[in-house]
Amino acid sequence: MPKKKNFETEAIRTQTPTTAEREHSTPLYMTSSFTFESAEHARALFAKEVEGNVYSRYSNPNTDEFINKMCRLEGAEAGVATGSGMAAIFGCLAALLEQGDHVLASRSLFGSSHQILSQILPKWGITFTYGDVKKTEEWESLIQDNTKMLFLETPSNPGLDLIDLEWAGKLAKAHDLIFVVDNCFATPYLQRPIEFGADLVQHSATKFIDGQGRAIGGVILGREKYMEEVEFFTRNTGPALSPFNAWLFSKSLETLPVRMERHCDNAEKVTEFLDGHPKVNFVKYPHHNSHPQFDLAKKQMKRGGGVVCFEIKGGYKAAVKFIDGIRMLSRSANLGDTRTIVTHPASTTHSKLTKEERTAVGITEGLIRIAVGLENAEDIIGDLNL
Ligand SMILES: *Cc1c(COP(=O)(O)O)cnc(C)c1O
Repeated sequence: MPKKKNFETEAIRTQTPTTAEREHSTPLYMTSSFTFESAEHARALFAKEVEGNVYSRYSNPNTDEFINKMCRLEGAEAGVATGSGMAAIFGCLAALLEQGDHVLASRSLFGSSHQILSQILPKWGITFTYGDVKKTEEWESLIQDNTKMLFLETPSNPGLDLIDLEWAGKLAKAHDLIFVVDNCFATPYLQRPIEFGADLVQHSATKFIDGQGRAIGGVILGREKYMEEVEFFTRNTGPALSPFNAWLFSKSLETLPVRMERHCDNAEKVTEFLDGHPKVNFVKYPHHNSHPQFDLAKKQMKRGGGVVCFEIKGGYKAAVKFIDGIRMLSRSANLGDTRTIVTHPASTTHSKLTKEERTAVGITEGLIRIAVGLENAEDIIGDLNL
């Protein structure tokens, strides 16, 4: 492996070797399989005596470039790319857990992660307990003899609560738990969980990694000893990422640092506008001094990220009026796009939760999530018709 360079350089200069055509930008290897030089070469490839591509469910130059780049950006030893963020999460859990195991997870998880833990894994005898992000002092008492994994997301969606990664890393180490972090909201540019002791990190590449709202994909990264199991699982069960999407994501990563800086600039301006606004109860943004975990945010995140949430005065009715009053910004449920997106979590992304479950993670009827995009900040603020 070449010597590690700075983040921006790694994001641009990690590249598959140039072909005989001497192209400057990585070409797209849209092929399902690869040829063998001889019968002996085929035998050696299958026996893993030599390295090389065989079939795009196993490996492909475009997915390899994307994985290598992500490994270098997150500081991981190995990785696997998947067809979606959920395939990454499911692949990681299904590969490493077995019947009788228990998972300790943060309650504020992405909706489909909650469905995997509560509806799918129990079919195979794998159980879970949620820890409250606001009461992490209780988490140690939630660990059981059969607890095998600690799984969390920070910042949480949409409440933007943080979990101390250094503390979580120590907890996992003390109890011999596999420590897994969904790092989708922060991206490796703002937060690198492996540096705080995480064993594995997952991403929905659909969000800030693509950053332009074009393609679905995911990636699992981490320590070799766990990634071997994960790779065995994904290689044989088949959630492979398309080479085309891998090519898009790897290109997108070249601009990740520039884009994230602008997402953060704009999100800070939106936060300033909402802070103290007469029609707003509160605004939440990790790097704003009103955030209850501002010090922790500064410790583990380079900047606050591209998502801001706030509570509008007047509950559901006021929220609906606000969402319907949007003219330029997008009404959508996605995030991490160049286009600013406004979402009402209680009636959309988190509507499957009971009212009590929503209240427990701070999703009130008046809560609005803004995934701040890259338009001019004045125009974004100009469309927030409060
Ligand atoms: C979107 C998202 C996912 C799921 O990713 P997909 O690419 O939609 O499958 C998982 N975790 C978080 C935090 C997300 O925002």
